[in-house]
Amino acid sequence: MKTIGLLGGMSWESTVSYYRSINRHVNRRLGALHSAEIVLYSVDFEPIEQLQHAGDWDRTAEILCRAARKVESAGADFLVICTNTMHKVYDQITGAIDIPVLHIADATAAAIEDVGLRTVGLLGTRFTMEQEFYRGRLTGRHGLEVLVPPEADREIVHRVIYDELCRGQVRDTSRAEYVRILAELADRGAEGVILGCTEISLLVGPDDASVPVFDTTEIHATQAAERALEA
Ligand code: GLU
Repeated sequence: MKTIGLLGGMSWESTVSYYRSINRHVNRRLGALHSAEIVLYSVDFEPIEQLQHAGDWDRTAEILCRAARKVESAGADFLVICTNTMHKVYDQITGAIDIPVLHIADATAAAIEDVGLRTVGLLGTRFTMEQEFYRGRLTGRHGLEVLVPPEADREIVHRVIYDELCRGQVRDTSRAEYVRILAELADRGAEGVILGCTEISLLVGPDDASVPVFDTTEIHATQAAERALEA
């Protein structure tokens, strides 16, 4: 089995989901008491969140490149960045290490292509919903049509992520807002919706939408487990 490198802590709430999901997947495949071989570097999220909102992505890249090098030198065969947003600095991270990095948007697009959908909604941080590093990859590289909520709803989705989910708070009022936003994306023609932030599945799941949802945490974790099990 290969050793999985995780760059986590963004937030640690969702890194728990990755850790659980990867181990469960490996155990389902291998049985007995098998579990995954994992090297995890979990960062302090507060300074990263401040740098994100100040637009200082170069500094976030420095922090994550340093962490990625530590994961590599601890023996990981490949790296998983456990957040959609920080794929903003994917190129810098891949440039800093020699092991491959599994891109979360590529894994998600593959899952969408597998079920033959073309038009999808996207929920995530404002950075993920609004900037090219993520949407552009889905449209340009994978030929998907991507719908995002209107400005006021993007603000709600973003605020709930940072002010609640990343702090371990799961509120019914916020779930109701997300359910409404999911329904409006489906009404506008989304055939499925990407839960493009690794904490969103703590709040909503398949039962909260009339169309399929694509949980990036689960998809990315499953891809990592499968990759580790490859001969
Ligand atoms: N985990 C989130 C994501 O998948 C948001 C936190 C972050 O900014 O990294 O985008």
